[in-house]
Amino acid sequence: MDNCIFCKIIDGRIPSVKVYEDEFCTAFKDINPQMPVHIVVASKRHVPSVLGFGPEDKEFLGGIQLAIAKIATQEGLVENGFRVINNCGADAHQSVPHLHYHILAGGDMGERIV
Ligand code: 5GP
Ligand code: ZN
Repeated sequence: MDNCIFCKIIDGRIPSVKVYEDEFCTAFKDINPQMPVHIVVASKRHVPSVLGFGPEDKEFLGGIQLAIAKIATQEGLVENGFRVINNCGADAHQSVPHLHYHILAGGDMGERIV
């Protein structure tokens, strides 16, 4: 999509520090990290959120989930653990309407999710 920041990152029109890519997603370092490790895993397809997918997309969405596990392993996050967050809609303050997951790690994030 022409004016989507994550589509531009995926196709290289906006520079980023990419850490992983496959047929389902592209992962890159967040420009404003909220933990020592903060990776954005963006869907290769421009769909605004998980609400835009259907049963026919099970393999695609599962592919992203498996990619998250691969990225966590590749980045050395398995021993101490990591958190995966998806912001969807206004209350969650989703700022980029292109499906993505945040992988956060690098320190104790406490018992509460927020
Ligand atoms: P959201 O609020 O939609 O869940 O998350 C969007 C994330 O994208 C934010 O954490 C923000 O810092 C990150 N972000 C926004 N623009 C850019 C950019 O141009 N490059 C990178 N690497 N991250 C970005
Ligand atoms: Zn997009």
